[in-house]
Amino acid sequence: MKVYNTLTKTKQEFVPIEEGKVRMYVCGPTVYNLIHIGNARPMIVFDTVRRYLEYRGYEVNYVSNFTDVDDKIIKKANEEGVDASEISTRYIAECKKDMAAMNVRPATKHPLATEEIDGMIDMISSLIEKGYAYEKNGTVYFRTRNFREYGKLSHKNLDDLQSGFRDLKVSGEEEKEDPLDFVLWKPKKEGEPYWVSPWSEGRPGWHIECSVMSKKYLGDQIDIHAGGEDLIFPHHENEIAQSEACNGKEFSRYWMHNAFLNINNKKMSKSLGNFFTVRDISERYDLQVLRFFMLSAHYRSPLNFSDDLMESAKNGLERIVTAAGRLKKLASNPGELTETEAGLVQKADSYVKAFEDAMDDDFNTADAISAVFELVKFANTEVKETSSGFFAGKVSEKLEKLCDILGILTEREEEMLDEDIEALIAERQAARKAKDFARADAIRGELLERGIVLEDTRQGVVWKRA
Ligand code: AMP
Ligand code: ZN
Repeated sequence: MKVYNTLTKTKQEFVPIEEGKVRMYVCGPTVYNLIHIGNARPMIVFDTVRRYLEYRGYEVNYVSNFTDVDDKIIKKANEEGVDASEISTRYIAECKKDMAAMNVRPATKHPLATEEIDGMIDMISSLIEKGYAYEKNGTVYFRTRNFREYGKLSHKNLDDLQSGFRDLKVSGEEEKEDPLDFVLWKPKKEGEPYWVSPWSEGRPGWHIECSVMSKKYLGDQIDIHAGGEDLIFPHHENEIAQSEACNGKEFSRYWMHNAFLNINNKKMSKSLGNFFTVRDISERYDLQVLRFFMLSAHYRSPLNFSDDLMESAKNGLERIVTAAGRLKKLASNPGELTETEAGLVQKADSYVKAFEDAMDDDFNTADAISAVFELVKFANTEVKETSSGFFAGKVSEKLEKLCDILGILTEREEEMLDEDIEALIAERQAARKAKDFARADAIRGELLERGIVLEDTRQGVVWKRA
């Protein structure tokens, strides 16, 4: 299995530190709002990486944090006149709902930054003792130049960085020894949440949070550290500096980064008005479609979100789910495997092999999905109404296995009950009588989405399942 490592800029054979086990840390969201579809990309991508590693027999310890103390959380709390913890608790709960709807499995552990402050104080103290950090008026800074390998992940040169910083004056940071130094601990401002530390009443910097949570739940050395590509610099570069300076060991063997999700070929941003939350999308699509759409591209390629691409993901997913349903039904056919069918099972295996080859090549889900479509095409032509249940069952098993690795659910939504359909039709008739055509059309649309087609006839409205 090969993994592209940002650290070495090459695809490398995946060899974990401990045989059969993978320790993996994925930087999670800052919880001050509903998550947006950009945040959903690393969640879906790395959940799929985890599923594939498990399929390959590894026991995966998967840790993903919530950053629950941050300027944006405090700002939102002040706007609403509530405690910062109320904002973070609310949006962690909402994030977990979105994750479940996207079939992203909960991590082995979801640590919260605010519950790990003692560990952060310990690591900062240790960095000060080792000469890698210093305090000035209650703020603690990391002494970047003391960490000789600084820049190794982002492939940046310290002197270039230095010249970039020369004209930059960030208020309150004039007391730094060097413009490259970054904050490990900062004193509170009026009205901000704070914790007591040897340096000031204050709170940790963002980077130290992940170094500490990763160390506590996975140990000094881990196999995979992941997140979106915007985190390479400075977040992950700084995490490496802190962790390696403190622990004296290589922090993570592999660094994986997903490319960005854009909307209509533009960067997603609130000011451009092209900004969707996962919740917005859930009003128009089953979030399974969003998951399938995200996996239709390789995780290191930029991905463009558009209605056309979502429609095409919806159709593709439908094709797979329909084939899966048909195979399950045919699996209850009588009969044993015939000789011809035995040959066909081998053919079906070749699509599973193509899927594995694609995933072994740096988790190429785009090619893996092509292999799934090949298997679906094969199933639709070779598994017939007259096939043996054994054969249909074998093909069904393979398709289910591949869908499970991608986190795609093959069960259809429950069919609507007849009486619920009839109640909606009656409501539509009443709406039409009241000349509320918008409501009447909405009901027709709603029914259509659930696969119910209405026909207005002279005898009244008749309906059928599509
Ligand atoms: P944040 O809450 O901004 O720290 O982001 C949480 C995660 O979402 C990080 O791994 C980011 O890199 C990732 N992320 C944010 N925006 C996007 C985007 N538009 N496309 C892909 N990943 C993103
Ligand atoms: Zn992080």
